[in-house]
Amino acid sequence: MSAFPPCPNCSSEFTYEDGGIYICPECAHEWSEQAAMPIEVVGKVYRDSAGNVLQDGDTVTVIKDLKLKGSAGVIKMGTKVKNIRLVGSDHDIDCKIDGFGAMSLKSEFVKKV
Ligand SMILES: [Zn+2]
Repeated sequence: MSAFPPCPNCSSEFTYEDGGIYICPECAHEWSEQAAMPIEVVGKVYRDSAGNVLQDGDTVTVIKDLKLKGSAGVIKMGTKVKNIRLVGSDHDIDCKIDGFGAMSLKSEFVKKV
């Protein structure tokens, strides 16, 4: 019996270890012990208006008209915002909106798509 974890690729139990790397003889998949461990979530969890967890690179829509400070522009409700970046400030989303450019939004005013 193998004491090693089953292959994450094909679930084979005939995996073996070689120099800190696990190898599956059935599908030739190789992985390290570290990669097989669950990733610990650290730091703040960002949630949208509906309570969904947000991550870097997510696409969201704006849930209400947002007036731009110091300009007449308004980001309309329903505007799609692609590839958001989460930052640790009051406006916790950095993003780029077509027609407006770089922008900071609050996660409470968006909803994950
Ligand atoms: Zn395999």
